[in-house]
Amino acid sequence: MALLQIAEPGQSTEPHQHRVAIGIDLGTTHSLVAAVRSGEAKVLQDEQNRVLLPSIVHYTNAVHHYGDEAKSFLLTDPKNTIVSVKRFMGRSKADIKFQHPYELLGSDREMPSFQTTAGAKTPVEISADLLKQLKERAEKTLENNIQGAVITVPAYFDEAQRQATRDAAELAGLNVLRLLNEPTAAAVAYGLDQASNLAIDQNYVIYDLGGGTFDVSVLRFSQGVFEVLATGGHTALGGDDLDRLIVKWLKQLLNLESLSDEQYAHFILAAKLAKEQLSNEQSVQISLEDQQIYLDRPTFENIIQIALDRTIQVCKRVLRDAKLSLNDIKNVVLVGGSTRSYAVQQAVANVFEQEPLCTINPDEVVAIGAAITANQLVGNSKDGSLLLDVTPLSLGLETMGGLVERLVSRNTAIPVARRQEFTTYKDGQTAMLIHVVQGERDLVEHCRSLGRFVLHGIPPMTAGQARIEVTFQVDADGLLSVSAQETTSGVQAKIDIKPSYGLSDADMERLLVEGFQHAEEDKNLRHLQETKVEAQRELEALTQALHVDADLLNGNQKDHLEKARYTLSELLKGSDIKSIESAIKRLKTYSDEFAAMRMNRHIDKALSGTKLDDWSNSSSE
Ligand code: ADP
Ligand code: MG
Repeated sequence: MALLQIAEPGQSTEPHQHRVAIGIDLGTTHSLVAAVRSGEAKVLQDEQNRVLLPSIVHYTNAVHHYGDEAKSFLLTDPKNTIVSVKRFMGRSKADIKFQHPYELLGSDREMPSFQTTAGAKTPVEISADLLKQLKERAEKTLENNIQGAVITVPAYFDEAQRQATRDAAELAGLNVLRLLNEPTAAAVAYGLDQASNLAIDQNYVIYDLGGGTFDVSVLRFSQGVFEVLATGGHTALGGDDLDRLIVKWLKQLLNLESLSDEQYAHFILAAKLAKEQLSNEQSVQISLEDQQIYLDRPTFENIIQIALDRTIQVCKRVLRDAKLSLNDIKNVVLVGGSTRSYAVQQAVANVFEQEPLCTINPDEVVAIGAAITANQLVGNSKDGSLLLDVTPLSLGLETMGGLVERLVSRNTAIPVARRQEFTTYKDGQTAMLIHVVQGERDLVEHCRSLGRFVLHGIPPMTAGQARIEVTFQVDADGLLSVSAQETTSGVQAKIDIKPSYGLSDADMERLLVEGFQHAEEDKNLRHLQETKVEAQRELEALTQALHVDADLLNGNQKDHLEKARYTLSELLKGSDIKSIESAIKRLKTYSDEFAAMRMNRHIDKALSGTKLDDWSNSSSE
C-alpha cells in the first residue's frame, strides 16, 4: 500500500490570522465538541458546565428539548423523544432491523422519517438538530466565527452513512472540513503521531467500547502519517449490554421470573449507576425491591465476562487481519465511556500484554483528536501533514459472468484513485453497463450493489477493441465516484455514489466474514464463470464467422464444427468445469482450422484488384 503525505501547501498562518475550527464527536449516546485554544485542545462546556450532550431530542409542537433536558421525556413521551439516531443514519427503512419504539414513515427503500408531534423528522434532520446545539455552544464559547468542523464517524461507516453525516452537518450550517474516523481521532489526541520516531513504523490498537457499539482498529504510523491497517467490531455490543447483563444477574438473585416494563426501566437505571460507580469504588450497594444487593468488582467481572470475551475475539481477529502479532503493537488506546470499567481495562491489558493508554478522558478523546485535526486543516498546524483512513470493504465492478473485478481492496488508504481498462464483449457493442459493487466475495450476487450507470456512444468496433478506462476515486471522506471513458472516442460517463441507504454494520460484518469463509469456494466459482465466459466468447465468434463464411466448409467439417458447438452449449448449462474446458479445446481445433481458411479468403479478397506493385509498397487493406 503506497503511503501518501498530504500536505496543504501555503496554509501555515501568522498568529494574528489564527482561524477557529471545531471537532465534533457525534456519538450514539453522547455528542460533544472541542476546539484548540491557545495551542491546547479542550472540550467545550455548555452554560451549566456540562461537556457531554446526550444524543437525545424531544420534539413538541412548541419548543424542542435537547440532551439532558430531553432525557426526562424518555419515560413520559417516548415516541417524540428520539435516542440513538446514529443507528438510523444512512439506512433505508428495510435496513432497520433492530428494535425501537418509533413509528417510521416512508417506503422500504427510502430514508425513513420519525413521526413526531413536530412533523416528520429524518435521521439527518435530527442529527442536524444535535449538531446545531454543539455549534451554538462553540459560537458562544469561542466568540469567533467558526471556519469549519471535523466530524468523526465510526471506521465501519459506509458511503451512505458518511454522506448522511455530512448532510446533517451541512444542514446545521457547519462547513465540513473532513469526516474523520473515530480511532484515527483518538490516536491524534494522544499525539501518537508526535511521539513516534519517524524512522520506525509503529502500530497502535484503538479499543472503543461505547454505549451500544464496539469498534477496534489497528493503526500504523509510518513516515509521518497514519494509516488504518484493519478495523472490526460489533454493532450491538456496548455499555448497554453490560447493564442488561447486570439486570439478568439481579433477576436471578432476587428470584424474579419476569419484570414489568416499569420495573425493567428501574432495574436498568440501577444497574447502570452501579456499573459506573464501580469504576471508582471496589464495591457498591444496589437498592431494589426493598432489598440491598452488594456488587463488587470481581463479581461484576464475572457477570460481564461473556461480553468481554466477545470484544477480545474481535481484537484477535483484527490483529490477524492486519497481519500483526502482539509484539508489533506499541500502544493500546482506550476510547468510549465503558472503558472506564476496571474489568474492561484488565481484559484489554491481558489480551495485549500491556497497560492500555487511558489518561485522556475516554468520552472526550475522539472529540479532542477531531479538534486537533480541524485546527490543522484550517492551516494552524506546524507541519501540515494530514491523516489517512482506509476503505472498510473492497470496491469493484461487475464483469462478464457476474464476476467482481476488484479495483480498490478493503483497508486501502484513502484518498485513493484506481484506474483499469476494460473492453467490449460483443462486436459492434455501443454501450456498456458499469455496475459498481462493494464486498469481499467473487460473485456479484454475494456483494452489495452500490450503483449502475451506462456508458453510451461507444463507436461500433470488433469485440475486444474498445478501450474503456474506468476510474474509481474515493475522497478523504470515503465517498466514491466512478467514471468511465472510451479512450479512442473520448465518450465519458460518471456517477457519484451517494446511495440513499447503506449497509448496516451487521451486513458489513457479514460480508467480511463471508468473504473469508468462502475464499476457496469463490475461487472455484470464479474459475467456472471465467471458463464459461471464454466458452461463450468462442461460440459468439463462431456464429459471426459462420454467418459470413460458412460456404468455405465441406460437409464433414461443418458436421464436426456443429457437433463441437452443440456439445459445448449443452455443457454450459451445467457446471462440470473439466468437460467444459475440454469441449472448448475441441471446438478450438475445428474453429482454428476454419479461421485459417477465412484468413486465406480475406487475403485473397484484399489482393484481388490490387497490382502486385501496390501490394509490395503498402500492406494496408
Ligand atoms: P457512544 O460512543 O456510543 O456515544 P460513550 O463513549 O459516551 O458512548 O459511552 C457510553 C457508555 O459508557 C454508557 O454505557 C455508560 O454507561 C458508560 N459509562 C459512562 N461512564 C462510565 C463509568 N464511569 N464506568 C463505566 N461505564 C461508564
Ligand atoms: Mg463513541
